[in-house]
This record gives sequence, C-alpha cells and structure tokens, in this order.
Amino acid sequence: MRLRAGLRVLRRTATEVQVGTDPRWAVRLPDLTRAEADLLLAVDPRTDLTGLHAVAAGCGLDPGRVRDIVATLADAGLTEDRPARPVLRGPAAVDADVGDLLRADAYGPGLVRERAERVVGVLGLGPTGLGIAVGLAAAGVGTVLVDDERPVRTVDVGVCGYRWSDVGSAREHVAARLLRDVAPHVSTASDRVPDVVVLVEDRVADPVRGPVLVTGGTAHLSVVVREADVLVGPLVVPGAGPCLRCLDLHRTDADAAWPALCTQLRADRSAAREPGAVAAVSAGLGAAAVLARLDRVGGAAPGTSFEVTLPDAVPRRRAWAVHPECGCTALPASLVGAPGPVTAR
Ligand SMILES: [Zn+2]
Repeated sequence: MRLRAGLRVLRRTATEVQVGTDPRWAVRLPDLTRAEADLLLAVDPRTDLTGLHAVAAGCGLDPGRVRDIVATLADAGLTEDRPARPVLRGPAAVDADVGDLLRADAYGPGLVRERAERVVGVLGLGPTGLGIAVGLAAAGVGTVLVDDERPVRTVDVGVCGYRWSDVGSAREHVAARLLRDVAPHVSTASDRVPDVVVLVEDRVADPVRGPVLVTGGTAHLSVVVREADVLVGPLVVPGAGPCLRCLDLHRTDADAAWPALCTQLRADRSAAREPGAVAAVSAGLGAAAVLARLDRVGGAAPGTSFEVTLPDAVPRRRAWAVHPECGCTALPASLVGAPGPVTAR
C-alpha cells in the first residue's frame, strides 16, 4: 500500500501533519508525538505503508498507533494498493498523477495508456485550435487529426505555439510538426472515426457541420472565435443534451434576425483574430473538456459553454437547454453514451 501519487505530507505544527492540500481530500492528523510526525514527514508515494508500523517499532514508536494512522489515510482514500508505479516521462505523467487523485477507480498510468488508443480531430487551427491539439497530444491522446489548409498569419504567432518562421506555411503542416515536438509518438493520420471532433470556427458555427456529426453519433466540441471573445462549448453528445442547432433555435427565439446575421457572418471567409491570453485560456478549457469525455470523468454538464472575453479572459459559464423544436434528443439509444471500450487499431 502506498500514498497516492501527487500527494505531499506537510508539517502543520510539531505534533500535527497534513496529507494533501486539496480541500476535496486533504486530511489533518493531529495529536501525534513529535517522533510520529517526523516519521510521517519521511513518507512519500514510494514508501510501502504496509511495513510502516515495523519501521516505527524499530525506531521505538508504538506500532499500533502507526497502523491506526495508516488506516485513517486508507479510509480517506489517500492510499492505493497497487505496486510501485511505472516511471512515466513527459507531460502526460502529470495527468497520470492527477488521474489517480480524481477518480477513486483510476490508475493514472492506465488512464494515459487508454488515451493512446483515442482519436480526436481538430478542425480549425488558429491559436485556439492549435492550443487544443497540442494540449491533447501532450496529455497522451494517441491520434490527433489536424485540418486547416489556411496559412499561418503574423497575428497567429504567440503563446499557443506558432512562430515567426511558420508564417505563410499551411497551419495543418506546422501543427503536425508542433504536436510531434511535444509528443513524439503522436499520430496525425487515422482512418477511424474520431472519438471526439473539435470544431473551431470563426464568428459563427457552421449550421451544417454540427447536425452531420449528430446524425453520425459523433461527440463534438464547438469553439467559436467571435469579435471580442471565444465561445468554448458545449460539448455535444448526440442525444444526451442540446446540439448546436438547439443553440441557433434559442438565438432565433431571442432575435428573429439571427438567421440573417448568421448568414452574413458565415459569408466572411477570413480567419478571425485570436488575442493570445483569450486563446490560451480557451485552448485549456477546450482540451480539458475533450479529456473529460475521453477519460469518462464528469466534466461540465451537457449544454455548458464558456465565454472567454477580452480583456480579462475570465471564463463565464452559460447553460443551454435542448430546444423543443430541434428533435435531436429523439436519437436511437445506441448513439448515446460514453466512448466505447478501447479497441486495437
Ligand atoms: Zn438540438
């Protein structure tokens, strides 16, 4: 038995220690002797807790009390019974640690291995789309399909990854290279249907793309770069919440001219500008939403979107409901649910 990866043991006073810092699971151990506190402070995720009472006895401590302390940590869900973890390197190792902490049934390295079998498509590779794709590859997603033939512009250069030397090159070619820079084993080609498609669009969501994905039962995350904000979400799981058509129907209820405005906004084919801080926050939100879907952890409720606005880049949450006239929730049950079990490619 070992402490879960990512937890730290901290001294509060000479006779009290704290394990972990997140209020969701941190535990205080008061009324210790100084020697007991010292012993616990030497514990890290590599320490075998099963033998800790014997170590305590060897140091002249009461082994029964140390056994009780270990039981308290186990009851609080701060231990795991697995053998020593394999050593993971690279950005995905961080996700493996956090995966252990966030899901009682999770085994971080196993969770990252499952991601390696997943396929995600990112359509639209401005700074926000690039940031999402890089975030997914760095988190261990095995196949990230990137699609955007438009050239990198000078205003795309910045925090999400494009460099001055990339200006003029096709975004999808530069993106594929950047993905391999952070995740050498990532694939950017697959003939499998993606587990999730990310649609990063300028000014307004394409009214056709979303419904096509709904019909095919493919989960998709909508990201729309607008005049002075980025709208991240909702993540549409066909049949299990509002779809992008639902959103347009709600907008039309609120403003009868919306379809006319939408048509004009779509007619502008130029790429929208994405300020760096807003793109970085939006990319983080987008990548996290996709990973929650792939990992089958909670994530935001169906119909949740975030508006990341200039100048503060503080995400504002908004909840959308299924529109009664859309009919998208009347889909066969077979199309609804979490990603299926991982199958070999
Ligand atoms: Zn709908």
